Amino acid sequence: MNKTQIHIVGGGLAGCEAAWQCLRAGHDVRLYEMRPKKMTPAHATGDLAELVCSNSLKSMLPDTAPGLLKSEMQALDSLILKAAAHTAVPAGQALAVERTVFSLFILESLESFPGFKKVDAEVTELPPVGDNEAWIVASGPLTSQPLVDQLQGLCPDSRRLHFYDAIAPILETESIDESIVFRASRYDDSGDGDYWNVPLNKDEYEAFVDAVIAAEKMPLHDFEDVAYFESCLPIEVMIERGRETLRFGPMKPMGLVDPRTGHRPWAAVQLRMENKEGTMVSMVGFQTKMKWPEQKRVFSLLPGLKDVEFFRFGSVHRNSYLKSPDVLDRDLSFRSAPRIFLAGQITGVEGYTESAAIGLLAGRAASAKVQGQRFLMPPAGTIIGALYQYITEGGLGDFQPMNANLGLLPSLPKQRGMGKPQRKALQCARSREIFAAYANQLSGSSQNYQHGGVWNAQAGL
Ligand SMILES: Cc1cc2nc3c(=O)[nH]c(=O)nc-3n(C[C@H](O)[C@H](O)[C@H](O)COP(=O)(O)OP(=O)(O)OC[C@H]3O[C@@H](n4cnc5c(N)ncnc54)[C@H](O)[C@@H]3O)c2cc1C
Repeated sequence: MNKTQIHIVGGGLAGCEAAWQCLRAGHDVRLYEMRPKKMTPAHATGDLAELVCSNSLKSMLPDTAPGLLKSEMQALDSLILKAAAHTAVPAGQALAVERTVFSLFILESLESFPGFKKVDAEVTELPPVGDNEAWIVASGPLTSQPLVDQLQGLCPDSRRLHFYDAIAPILETESIDESIVFRASRYDDSGDGDYWNVPLNKDEYEAFVDAVIAAEKMPLHDFEDVAYFESCLPIEVMIERGRETLRFGPMKPMGLVDPRTGHRPWAAVQLRMENKEGTMVSMVGFQTKMKWPEQKRVFSLLPGLKDVEFFRFGSVHRNSYLKSPDVLDRDLSFRSAPRIFLAGQITGVEGYTESAAIGLLAGRAASAKVQGQRFLMPPAGTIIGALYQYITEGGLGDFQPMNANLGLLPSLPKQRGMGKPQRKALQCARSREIFAAYANQLSGSSQNYQHGGVWNAQAGL
């Protein structure tokens, strides 16, 4: 067999994971990392897979989305999780790591392959790809500008590349009190409707505005001195323009009638379906920089949202990502350049583990392609498969970065006498079964893997 070479841009979580997968498959890998010669505004070192903020890779509990994702990635021989298991520090039910040794473990693991070469350089252009080669771009949320320009050239139009995300919270529909929150579309009195509407009277509106004003917000980084797009202003910025601004913006009550009063409410928050099953809804126009615990506290003050559960919190930050469903093929390569793959946060996932997960899939897919094969992607009933499906097919609303959450999985029908925790446990058990069947399929093919169980901190050692 001719020597095959895979070039990977970005030595972050996704790039390192992809490199490991390619090396294991027998390819030579050149991993290009611009740090420390050229730093990003958030990284502080030249280390591989630097964790730019928290040192936590979230929950290890089996019946949570992060826990499921870990078990699946472990079964797919993830380097990032192997490194995390080796360098874990006590953090209760979360998987937290000692960041310097975590990075060192990753470097040493990659360097244990003779075919690995780390290149300390910024990639400013993507050269033509040779027959036995592939490129994987895993340059992250803070991709350097020359590379952004190159990626722009691979997209059919520039609106496919975003530089900030302005994300509204996503809620679990089941946790909403439907005796208060009502279904209706504006100016439609058919009694049915596509939106859930949270009605507020004048006092409730005033109290909500005060709570947003008083809530703690995330500080802006120097590089995030954002000139906000008018169409996606954070709600707190709107309130700075006047207490009534929300009532004439995302909380306008026009065309709605509260069935409890028979009148138009003073203000209303609209919730829009995020998946076909209607198990996830987003708060329309509610992008915010309030801290996460504050979002939980403040949004729970809204009528009918007292016990609401969040699949994703809102945020506004600098984040380069592509509208992947429009530009990527099913194997994560560009439709316009089938030997160039995209991986990590720049594909439209959010978070350390999620980014590594897409690095893993892109590494597998690129490895298979240079050998003239096709990698079998995981099914949507698994968490890693649900993330993959999200970035290749998109959801119902605008394409916005997504984290791993149970709302991405098919839900189970309500059953009499079965509580929510029990249903979630069953949903996760079903997902584990789907993953086990997938792993079996892989082990029956040339793409051999271990079987998936639950995440086991010891098993990775
Ligand atoms: C300020 C900030 C705080 C965050 N906090 C958290 C958190 O607490 N928890 C969490 O889960 N997620 C957090 N995230 C998101 C997290 O950074 C990402 O999910 C994760 O690091 C993405 O992995 P990645 O491999 O896609 O990108 P990165 O880890 O960013 O890796 C990309 C790499 O590419 C390199 N690079 C960029 N351009 C080039 C180029 N042209 N040539 C060569 N190399 C290049 C960069 O130097 C970088 O090392 C945060 C992000 C930011 C910006």
